[in-house]
Amino acid sequence: MTGDRPKVLVIGGGFGGLFCARRLGRVDVDVTLLDRTACHVFQPLLYQCATGTLSIGQISRSLREEFEHHRNVQTLLGEAVRLDPSARRVTARRPDESQFDLDYDYLVIAAGMRQSYFGNEEFAAWAPGMKTLDDALSIRRRVFAAFEIAESLPAGPERDQWLTFAVAGAGPTGVELAGQIRELATRSLANEFHSIEPEEARVLLFDGGDRVLKSFTPALTDRATRVLEELGVELHFGVHVSDVRRDGVTVSPKDGGPSRDHATRTVLWTAGVEAVPFARHAAEVLGADTDRSGRIAVNADLSVAGHPEVFVIGDLAGRDGLPGVAENAMQGGLHVAASIRRDLDGRGRKAFRYRDLGSAAYISRGHAVLQVGPIKMSGALGWLGWGLIHIAFLTGVRNRFSTVGTWLATIARANRSDRSFILGGSGHPEEPYTWESPVHQGKRSADQ
Ligand SMILES: Cc1cc2nc3c(=O)[nH]c(=O)nc-3n(C[C@H](O)[C@H](O)[C@H](O)COP(=O)(O)OP(=O)(O)OC[C@H]3O[C@@H](n4cnc5c(N)ncnc54)[C@H](O)[C@@H]3O)c2cc1C
Repeated sequence: MTGDRPKVLVIGGGFGGLFCARRLGRVDVDVTLLDRTACHVFQPLLYQCATGTLSIGQISRSLREEFEHHRNVQTLLGEAVRLDPSARRVTARRPDESQFDLDYDYLVIAAGMRQSYFGNEEFAAWAPGMKTLDDALSIRRRVFAAFEIAESLPAGPERDQWLTFAVAGAGPTGVELAGQIRELATRSLANEFHSIEPEEARVLLFDGGDRVLKSFTPALTDRATRVLEELGVELHFGVHVSDVRRDGVTVSPKDGGPSRDHATRTVLWTAGVEAVPFARHAAEVLGADTDRSGRIAVNADLSVAGHPEVFVIGDLAGRDGLPGVAENAMQGGLHVAASIRRDLDGRGRKAFRYRDLGSAAYISRGHAVLQVGPIKMSGALGWLGWGLIHIAFLTGVRNRFSTVGTWLATIARANRSDRSFILGGSGHPEEPYTWESPVHQGKRSADQ
């Protein structure tokens, strides 16, 4: 590092931050890429990790390894916690709680969104979201452990509870998870148990709308619905999950009417997203508007009004027509890198134009839906398209080869090679053997 070149600080090594830093790797600037996990996670395949098909190593890549050959890009582990726009400084926290400061000439905020429980934070203790590797491993543990626990229980309501899985939210992630759990039960686990019949596992999918995969055309949605029903997923539309407990959920019809309880020991939450805490703080100190979910309003060039040196990209960028998809983040990252270059060359910036390259969702083995402009595919063709797209965008050549190999083995043998789960240490909020929330644990110690 020279020390006198412009300093670009990128917060977040997801799709937006990764593509921005990569493109700046050939520019005369010093880049610092700060991430709270030090790795890039390929979120679209998190559910395959959660349900035992892929390992966490196959869907993530160390940022340090990724930027090994970019001498002007330094990657740092830390969580941005404070922004001082007048000093152009960000304070970050290390995992040991100590802090350090990072100065910048340009700041790129690419910190993404986190799961939202719509103000019901207490649900999180029982219903993990699906945004991080921790989430995927937590879901894997809950799903596989549920079958294991059921195996040692006598037939009856308690066993049925463990063999019932509730998924909140019927967007792509909810659909993918629900389909995978049924597929797991009916294929991979079908002949492995002595006492239970895994095929009898119930998967309940809840959504406030009137169909699955709302962002797809009605024809593709209908197709996805049929496949899910054939797979045995029980679809419940027009309902909100209004309570989540240790042993069940309550769902309430959106248009009134009586609520209904469902007994289950596994609840998975994919229903909403909100800005990460740093983004809310950044918006406040930058004086930027936000929408209800905390996305930060940006100008046409993705900079923040009144702060041409600060950009917001990816899921956090709040501007009409910018969807929360990987393509938007990648294109935004490349655009911001180009804008910084143009600034350095004394040329004017251009407006960001998002090009919609389509979307895809996996339903089950041999079935996916794919929508690219006028082209719509489902069934085996959609499945093939889905696979090719995901492999093309997976980070790291090694990950691509190993994922294709694992998929082929899974297709051929129906087994899942990454089913191992860890139980964690005692005192963790998700106390493994009891699945109790911190609230319950606190009450229990007070009672003792
Ligand atoms: C389960 C799932 C499935 C999806 N499937 C698809 C799909 O099939 N197709 C598609 O196009 N999109 C899909 N998406 C959406 C897509 O993954 C996101 O749109 C994309 O990841 C957004 O990129 P980003 O760079 O804005 O944020 P992210 O990729 O979320 O990256 C944000 C990064 O910021 C880091 N970070 C957060 N806060 C801080 C902080 N304070 N300090 C430092 N670092 C921080 C995080 O660790 C993370 O690495 C899916 C998302 C999920 C969760």
